[in-house]
Amino acid sequence: MSDPRLGELLDGIIRLAAGDLRCRVKPSAARDEIDAVITGINLLADDLQLVYEELEARVESRTALLREAHREMERMAMTDALTSLANRAALLAAIDRELAAAAAGGPPPALLMVDLDSFKGINDSHGHGAGDQVLTGVAERLRESARETDVVARLGGDEFAILIPGASLAGAMNVGERILNALNGGLKVGHRNIVCRASIGLRMAERGQSAQELLQEADVAMYAAKAEGSAKVKVFEPFMLHAQQLRNMLAVELRRAISEDQLVLHYQPIIELATGRIEGVEALVRWQHPDRGLIMPDEFIAVAEEIGVVAELGRWVIGTALAQLRGWKDALELDERFSVRINISPFQLQSIEFVDDIWKALRSAEIKPANLILELTESVFVGGTELDRYSILGLRQLGVGLEIDDFGTGYSSISYLRRLPVDKVKIDRSLLGEPAQDPQQRAFLTAILQLVRACRLEAVFEGIENRSQAEELRRLGAESAQGYYFSRPLPAEGILDLLGRSPADQHWSL
Ligand code: C2E
Ligand code: MG
Ligand code: MG
Repeated sequence: MSDPRLGELLDGIIRLAAGDLRCRVKPSAARDEIDAVITGINLLADDLQLVYEELEARVESRTALLREAHREMERMAMTDALTSLANRAALLAAIDRELAAAAAGGPPPALLMVDLDSFKGINDSHGHGAGDQVLTGVAERLRESARETDVVARLGGDEFAILIPGASLAGAMNVGERILNALNGGLKVGHRNIVCRASIGLRMAERGQSAQELLQEADVAMYAAKAEGSAKVKVFEPFMLHAQQLRNMLAVELRRAISEDQLVLHYQPIIELATGRIEGVEALVRWQHPDRGLIMPDEFIAVAEEIGVVAELGRWVIGTALAQLRGWKDALELDERFSVRINISPFQLQSIEFVDDIWKALRSAEIKPANLILELTESVFVGGTELDRYSILGLRQLGVGLEIDDFGTGYSSISYLRRLPVDKVKIDRSLLGEPAQDPQQRAFLTAILQLVRACRLEAVFEGIENRSQAEELRRLGAESAQGYYFSRPLPAEGILDLLGRSPADQHWSL
């Protein structure tokens, strides 16, 4: 009969081989060769178990690491890398959650859409590094203005959103106002303080709305806020959707208008006050719309800027106005100094080819640079970018005249007026008033004139609507003026007619 320990040993080996690493065979008291094998097997089992446990621990820590990495990836997929705010995907998920809760009877959330005003300008003039710092700074202010339970998200670019669960209209408005206040003092970037305002749209969610609809309608309200000027909170109203649709339609039609020759130029004379001579004209663009009739520039220039066609529109205006000037010069004996003024949108200066385009247009119409005056708004000189400065310098070298338009409506800092590379200042009509009747207004205009002269610039007054304004300005020594009193903006033939008369035959002869 064989030794029973051999059976136990075999049994043990089978269990060990099957993975039961804790199994051990008990040696007998005999301490013979079989016991030596048993002890050897037990020692091997000890080693095996140790190796196995170490392996197991290592696998476990790897799994924990993988799990952590996975969580991090999920978090990153829901986080905006620059600001660490929630991103669009996270916001959409949160909106879905809140809308589902509202459908089940809970209170609907509110959504604030926040868009920075003129962020592109900050990027252009201070560089992208500073731009990024502004965005992180804004993110911080937004987080401080919201509650812990609100979802603050960056949707991309300079667009942010805040989802407020179960908010009242007053409560949500409050958050909006807090944000505007928080941005009010500007943001510290390095040693600079960068002013960065925002426009905010607010939409109170309604049951049955989709997340996309909620976002879109908050966006529409935000655009309405922007249209009213910066630093505003606007609550969504259904009519805004209609206004937006009209605007979109206008944008599509405007693209066509430029290529299909629906734009026309009217010209308004500028009068040299001392002599009554027409010293030049300002070209003013109109849109001859096939259904809606003549549309004025205030209605479509901003849209053209928004959809990026203002450069193309501007090129058309420059080409047409210079060709027209050539036409008048060929038809009449015009004064050598007779000039045409053209309004230039700040967006046009952003094109690196702008100066070259002007040069080509002048050459093609055979017009001297001195007979062209470009009207620019104060903003391009004050808040202007490197590219603006480059274009302005190029224009100066080319020899075209430069004039600040609408002076008195924008920044109007007296100190910068002295340093501007311009020749003329067109004083906005809101500053004109009735100087003949009002001594204080007369003193005010005298002071403006002195200021302009001290800066060695010439003053052009716009918006002259009656004879007494014209006479008073002449008495005060203003050089030039323009306005309905002299003539409304006219089609080119109307100007030809006026130019054909001598100053003594004009109704404004003073
Ligand atoms: P602006 O350059 O200040 O042009 C003067 C505006 O005042 C013109 O309006 C003109 O018709 C109007 N105006 C002239 N005299 C009088 C007056 O006595 N009383 C009153 N109340 N208004 C007077 P318009 O033609 O509607 O142009 C509005 C603005 O559109 C212009 O203001 C200019 O900023 C812009 N604009 C016009 N044409 C162009 C263009 O070709 N390109 C660009 N970028 N902007 C243009
Ligand atoms: Mg103008
Ligand atoms: Mg003006």
